[in-house]
Amino acid sequence: MLLKERVAIVTGGAGVNGLGFATARMLAEHGARVVILDLPGANPAGAAAELGAGHLGLAADITDKVQCDAAARAVLERYGRIDILFNNAGITQPRKTLDISAADYDAVLDVSLRGTLLMSQAVLPAMQQQQSGSIVNTSSVSAQRGGGILGGPHYSAAKAGVLGLTRAMAREFGPDGIRVNAITPGLIATDIIKGKLTEERKGEIASDIPLARLGRASDIAGAVVFLASDLSAYCTGITLDVNGGMLIH
Ligand code: NAD
Repeated sequence: MLLKERVAIVTGGAGVNGLGFATARMLAEHGARVVILDLPGANPAGAAAELGAGHLGLAADITDKVQCDAAARAVLERYGRIDILFNNAGITQPRKTLDISAADYDAVLDVSLRGTLLMSQAVLPAMQQQQSGSIVNTSSVSAQRGGGILGGPHYSAAKAGVLGLTRAMAREFGPDGIRVNAITPGLIATDIIKGKLTEERKGEIASDIPLARLGRASDIAGAVVFLASDLSAYCTGITLDVNGGMLIH
């Protein structure tokens, strides 16, 4: 059991086909008590119940500081500690630069970048008190190659911002025994791409990937379990590419 007695929060974890839920399930399989945090309409309590007994679902909008802080307090009241934060929630929009409105910009940056900062701020004091913790932030291959397949430039910018935030927090909180790392998924088959790519287009994309397939949610879950656990005890500030070789750099 890599994560026995560890308490893990997964943001955006309620969608059963998403990267968050797949990761929540793998964290639980490795012994963690998992808190699934998501928007109320996504039914985080229902998703947590699917993991079995001892896990928790919390409704919160991670773009709102008050809700992030309240969620962290609720986790501490229930479990007394927070060991792992997987900042997974994110939204994307297929826009060209000249079509990005102020509202589009706010929507995309607020969830990925502001939400990552706010949730980190909410859990860091408890991790500092413990003198241990692991935060895993979700960037994207889109940040590295200047656009993925679906997201617009504001999505690339938000995810590039996540990398900068990750590295700066890693420096700041390393002395407290808190590790902060990022994953950069390639194209993973979840609801975020549902209906947006034809099977033919998916085949074309897969043929350009060295591992010759799109990613699976479990591919991401494995990378996050590694970063959350002591297996990665000497890794902080790193960017772990989980892209099948789509981008090798
Ligand atoms: P998804 O759409 O299936 O899941 C996103 C989850 O975030 C949903 O459950 C949604 O309810 C939640 N969410 C959205 N706004 C929120 C808010 N304000 N507060 C709390 N929760 C909120 O997406 P996914 O494919 O599982 O992606 C997960 C993460 O991985 C995202 O950050 C995404 O940008 C990133 N990513 C995905 C891919 C891919 O190919 N699927 C590639 C690179 C990066």
